[in-house]
Amino acid sequence: MPLFTPGRRWQPPFYPFESKPLGDRLLQGVELAVKGPLFGCRMCGNCLLQETAFICSMECPKGARNGPCGGSTEEHCYVDETRPCIWYRIYDRAFRMNRQEMLLEVLPPLDWDKIGGETWGDVVRQVKKVGTRNVVSGLLARDPAVRSKTWDSVFRPVRQPDWWQGDSQYHAPKYEEPASELERRLRAGEFVVTAEVMPPISAKIDKMSKNIDLIKPYVTAVNFTDNPSAAPRTASWACSALAIKQGAEPVMQIAARDRTRVGLQSEVMGAADLGIRNILCISGDSMKMAPPPRGRMDIIDIDAVQMLWILRRMRDDSQYLDGREIKTPPRYFLGAAASPFASEPRFQALREHKKVNAGAQFFQTNLVYDAAHMEIWLNELAKRGVLDKVYILVGITPLKTFKMARYMNDEVPGVVIPEPLMKRMEAAEKSGNAQEEGVQIALELIQKIRKFEGQGVHGLHIMAVGWEEIVPRIVTEAGVLPHGFIPPEPKRAEEKLATPA
Ligand code: SF4
Repeated sequence: MPLFTPGRRWQPPFYPFESKPLGDRLLQGVELAVKGPLFGCRMCGNCLLQETAFICSMECPKGARNGPCGGSTEEHCYVDETRPCIWYRIYDRAFRMNRQEMLLEVLPPLDWDKIGGETWGDVVRQVKKVGTRNVVSGLLARDPAVRSKTWDSVFRPVRQPDWWQGDSQYHAPKYEEPASELERRLRAGEFVVTAEVMPPISAKIDKMSKNIDLIKPYVTAVNFTDNPSAAPRTASWACSALAIKQGAEPVMQIAARDRTRVGLQSEVMGAADLGIRNILCISGDSMKMAPPPRGRMDIIDIDAVQMLWILRRMRDDSQYLDGREIKTPPRYFLGAAASPFASEPRFQALREHKKVNAGAQFFQTNLVYDAAHMEIWLNELAKRGVLDKVYILVGITPLKTFKMARYMNDEVPGVVIPEPLMKRMEAAEKSGNAQEEGVQIALELIQKIRKFEGQGVHGLHIMAVGWEEIVPRIVTEAGVLPHGFIPPEPKRAEEKLATPA
């Protein structure tokens, strides 16, 4: 009815008219006028500035409210190269101000009822609740502990609503028996291997099914990606269910990009019913990487850390995000992605620490081509005391061509291939031997990575990117076959270990 409500024509698709009292609207205007120029405030109505070194995180196109994505670099945001990664700036400033430990607090998703509203009103209400006199005297106290406690008594309830109650603590899982075979083997100290199988892009599942059969004996669990590069494929949960039917243990990946808080919780309940016992929470590639027409790039309901927090509480506290009790809670082993080569190792270690606190029990890392750099990252994790709280499976991708190596290095966020390896691939390509060279590089890397077994590394995660038939050969030649390995059945004997042409 544009004739009667002309203002709506200039509004975003969803933006309800609200008849807020004049006082609130004035406060809103003043808050925007002050916080906009000072902190880059976007008036999300759920202010986190104190936890983010006084830089508004709402500039992040992935809507990340708990730290950078795996593509963060010092130079720029990987989604929009015209701007810096806002989370790099936040981490950098927080370390300089010695406020980095504040970044560990698990922050809630947006309360969309508050979008566009002011936060100062909440602060005033909280001051009244605590008592203005108590607040003033507490803030003027000589003891810094009293000052900080008073400050927290006002601001913590504002940023941590009752339905969230995030903190900076580690929460050990509240169950005894391993939720999955992957967890059982990791607990038993076995060096495990997982591998990725690409879900099909058509309704025909033969190839995927064959790949599952092919790699099943060689790995402990099979990952199913969730629409990589933001391009739709068969759902990860459906592939996981098919894998169970074929006798393989799946790791179901869930990308925050495609989920709302409601969809996420409903999906993991369904996955639990299907017998899926390993879940990997990731942010997901930005819509920017998707083929056109692209969907909105600026609205993501939940981030990967929030996903872990929600799923851990569903399992351990039998509770939905809205507080409803789950009579029979789901069982699963929770994982997350880690990115040793994005931004700086100390930043990434802090980010990983936060994921462990939120609920991550295992990490599958981004691709590693430089074991020495990975060691720096491991040392940073050790300094944070998280290595005994999480199992780390290091990401390995055998390179097939020099073109692929260049693409990985230049285009894939968080992947760095050292120059000597690039030169080896280039020379091998010229002599028509690129695939074999790629396999040899992967085998050499695995030997280097295995030196960190017992020092933080617990296994490998092979991402063959459509070259699944190479997985058996790599696992066999690297000497990382699973305990109790049973060779493939005779009917599959003709599927010899793949040898590159
Ligand atoms: S690089 Fe990632 S975390 Fe940083 S601003 Fe871009 S999307 Fe956000």
